[in-house]
Amino acid sequence: MAGGSGACYTPRVAAPVRRRRARRPARGRRLVVKGTVMARRRQLYEGKAKILFEGPEPGTLVQYFKDDATAFNAQKKGVITGKGVLNNRISEYLMVRLGEIGIPTHFVRRLNMREQLIREVEIIPLEVVVRNIAAGSLSQRLGIPEGTRLPRSIIEYNYKNDALGDPLVSEEHVTCFGWANTQDLDDVVALTLRINDFLTGLFLGVGITLVDFKLEFGRLWENEEMRIVLADEISPDNCRLWDSKTNEKMDKDRFRRDLGKVEEAYQEVAKRLGILPEAGTRDMKGPEIMQ
Ligand code: C5P
Repeated sequence: MAGGSGACYTPRVAAPVRRRRARRPARGRRLVVKGTVMARRRQLYEGKAKILFEGPEPGTLVQYFKDDATAFNAQKKGVITGKGVLNNRISEYLMVRLGEIGIPTHFVRRLNMREQLIREVEIIPLEVVVRNIAAGSLSQRLGIPEGTRLPRSIIEYNYKNDALGDPLVSEEHVTCFGWANTQDLDDVVALTLRINDFLTGLFLGVGITLVDFKLEFGRLWENEEMRIVLADEISPDNCRLWDSKTNEKMDKDRFRRDLGKVEEAYQEVAKRLGILPEAGTRDMKGPEIMQ
């Protein structure tokens, strides 16, 4: 362990069971919406695949899933028809399953075909990538052939910054620049490993290999207490999912690599999880009216 004077290095310590009773920092203007009418909500943020609206009550947001798809830091753009509907359902399903095993998440409930109610969190500006099998940027960076099973799961951090292309960073960068502290990271790692174990088994049960995936975490403040919770979404947009028998790709790589049958792949994932809406994709094309 290093850490000379003035160095940023912050040693990781074993995670205590539960921790901190920090004061909630002063925050900006709170969002207050009269009543629970969801129409004409104010848009707070538009990302590549989702839009966030203010929620019906303080501390909540509405997450809207778009059909827009981007890859390679938005250099490639397109539309995957019905993706928003499917990802809303798939992410709901996975967040609920994870909640059942005690993983805290921002998910409250699905509102309609394209929207879910979530708790407002302070997003930790990290993309937490878990890898079980070499693929994508790991294969490119290190020359490990795609499909090589890793001796153990790897967790990587990317700093969430589009202008910089979400660069790969180390724990030292994360703690040095204050994006998260060691305690936050201990929680993030513990949650990530449990999520990986659980989802690996869940997907294997429906004939899908969980190759790698990206998670985001946030700080949820309740009264004076803060805890780290899973945020964002879990869907074929941010997981590599391969058919267990054929290794056929069933995720956004079909879009990234122009492999075709993108919509079908997302539908197949939903179908195998048993959550494809009964109407199939018939109702997925137009923008949904917010209820
Ligand atoms: O591209 P790379 O191999 O680093 O991606 C690892 C995993 O993280 C993949 O499952 C990919 O879908 C996901 N990812 C993501 N959003 C990014 C970058 C990667 O969801 N901006």
